[in-house]
Amino acid sequence: MKDFSYTRAASLAEARERAGQAGAMLLAGGTTLVDLAKCGVAMPDEVVDITHIEGLDAIKVDRDGARLGALARMSHVADDARIRKEFPAVSEALWQAASAQLRNMATIGGNLMQRTRCAYFRDPASFPACNKRHPGSGCAAQGGVTRNHAVLGTSSYCIATNPGDLAVALTAFDAVIHLGERQIAVDDFFLLPGATPHQEHAVEPGEIITAVTIPASAAAKRSTYLKVRDRQSYEFAAASAAVGLELEADGKTIRDVRVALGGVATKPWRAREVETHLKGKTLAAETVKRASLLAMESAVAQGDNHYKIDLAPRVIARAILKVGGIA
Ligand code: FAD
Ligand code: SF4
Repeated sequence: MKDFSYTRAASLAEARERAGQAGAMLLAGGTTLVDLAKCGVAMPDEVVDITHIEGLDAIKVDRDGARLGALARMSHVADDARIRKEFPAVSEALWQAASAQLRNMATIGGNLMQRTRCAYFRDPASFPACNKRHPGSGCAAQGGVTRNHAVLGTSSYCIATNPGDLAVALTAFDAVIHLGERQIAVDDFFLLPGATPHQEHAVEPGEIITAVTIPASAAAKRSTYLKVRDRQSYEFAAASAAVGLELEADGKTIRDVRVALGGVATKPWRAREVETHLKGKTLAAETVKRASLLAMESAVAQGDNHYKIDLAPRVIARAILKVGGIA
């Protein structure tokens, strides 16, 4: 690991000022940054520790929605009784992310900024070609082992999957990322790779995530997060879905439905085709299964990951039928 200097920021203003310097990186729980520094992907000159800044770890829930401070720990948010009641998909996404030890250290802001688990990206010594690490160097994954790579939102420059779980739930329920005064809708916060896969988030140098807000909605209250992975105890998603459902007073017509996917796309993926198709329809297993297939209409397999195109619609359908009480 390359040597770096360490600064403990006492205030948001100081953290912003330091983080704006070339070569500086923020440190929150450290569960991703330290890994990336060890494998030679992150090489900060200065690490700016923000964990001692007061007031950034609060969790607030009221009738308008939830506000999660950027330094709130994943485990605290997952376990918060108000989050579990009003936003079950958010709690479940966090519970199924990483391990208990990691969740106790890791923060909401750090979770949103985590980098891809593409094995080629994380092994610079063996695989120098990676457009995400070094723009223009190529993509070692294409033509390689692609079982965990994306089928949606890819480009000829990069096919890496966004690995986060929380971000999928936030995408389903129109969360907003707060960078101090500036606010960005979560769908605009995560960027598609296009020709610039090294730009993953709409964060400018010196900006710090301060909070995430999630508007209250009936769909968020009746929601779930379903994650399918190679081992149940502790693994990134092969495919996951955050879904929410609101029915009309008749108890069977779909008034609102939210669907977002994880593990299959280069960014947390809102499946709006599925939502549009289902709104106004009667909740029934066949209808839901047929609509779920629409999420994969633009999917492109990259070799070993073809199974995701079959798997993801099943995950969506199972999740919707579960919240609908017919599975
Ligand atoms: P840090 O490591 O401190 O920071 C991560 C990045 O975010 C750094 O670049 C840092 O500069 C930046 N950053 C931190 N805070 C801010 C802020 N407020 N504003 C702007 N930038 C900021 N995640 C899942 O979702 N699902 C999983 O299944 C999963 N499994 C995992 C398994 C393992 C073995 C490991 C190591 C991680 C796993 N993770 C998983 C990822 C884990 O959730 C992240 O490591 C964690 O959330 C990062 O949070 P942190 O506070 O430790 O971030
Ligand atoms: Fe790098 Fe993306 Fe290719 Fe992985 S898929 S090697 S992150 S360019």
